[in-house]
Amino acid sequence: MRIVALAGGIGGARFLRGLREAIGPEDEITVIGNTGDDIHLYGLKVCPDLDTLMYTLGGGIHEEQGWGRADETWSIKAEMKEYGVGPEWFGLGDRDFATHLVRSQMLTAGYTLSQVTEALCVRWKPGVRLLPMSDDRVETHVRITDENGTRAVHFQEYWVRLHAAVDAEAIIPVGADTAKPAPGVLEAVAAADVILLPPSNPVVSIGTILAVPGIRAALAAAPAPVVGLSPIIGGAPVRGMADKVLAAVGVEATAAAVALNYGSGLLDGWLVDTADEAAVAAVEAGGIACRAVPLLMTDVAATAEMARAALALAEQVRA
Ligand code: GDP
Ligand code: CA
Repeated sequence: MRIVALAGGIGGARFLRGLREAIGPEDEITVIGNTGDDIHLYGLKVCPDLDTLMYTLGGGIHEEQGWGRADETWSIKAEMKEYGVGPEWFGLGDRDFATHLVRSQMLTAGYTLSQVTEALCVRWKPGVRLLPMSDDRVETHVRITDENGTRAVHFQEYWVRLHAAVDAEAIIPVGADTAKPAPGVLEAVAAADVILLPPSNPVVSIGTILAVPGIRAALAAAPAPVVGLSPIIGGAPVRGMADKVLAAVGVEATAAAVALNYGSGLLDGWLVDTADEAAVAAVEAGGIACRAVPLLMTDVAATAEMARAALALAEQVRA
């Protein structure tokens, strides 16, 4: 079985760890990772979602934090601070720095982000084929209004520095309209037996991937069933501030609204948490098969169970 999954950072990575557990040795997973969160810091290219996927699946993640390296130290950051060079609000540890140095060195030498990602994965052995959504630069910006007026800030500044405390007025994936899917992305989608949307942020993770011209259409046209899992449980994101960015695109933070926003043109099946059993009818009325199962990724075993439920639903909706 060839499984394709679109993924952001933490939610995507944790789900994929369960999915890897749930499949057989013959099955293969291709992950299309969001690069809209990418940011240039200290002259280095940082790809937060690709790194979270790589570290989580490769056993190098800081478990409790959900991002960054385990057993991290912070000497470089402290030294930068002595020089008065920021940003202080973005955490890059010493071990993590090595990843960004290798990536930036290879990009400067002319390799594409896909090639760099493949090279980094030689070390991390994530057990999946990890593709960036695009080799072209895409950067999600968020329009906000605060005491400094109305302006657009980088998504990382909105999320990490401002903690999404001000309302997001618009989400703009800058560069997405002219970006091309990375090599292998459309081919993987077309050849997939199952396509999964993990419980990643529907706007700034999955939404950004779908904003790359050709990817949404490829999913809609793919012979494989597309099944998603809700990142919203009981009317709130399990972790993070997805409700803020959902509001910016005019979507209610409920499991049903997120599914209906993807729409039956894209989604064939949708899993909601048992707490949202009442949402099943509304999702099915929208032409999307829906089941309620436990969706808390408390450990790998519970997450593998979610992955099995998604694969089972895919079998049921397969035309
Ligand atoms: P990010 O790029 O690090 O923000 O990660 P993703 O976009 O991949 O995932 C973020 C989403 O994961 C958030 O909207 C959370 O609500 C969701 N999430 C985190 N933990 C869980 C969980 O245990 N269950 C479910 N259903 N969703 C979760
Ligand atoms: Ca992200």
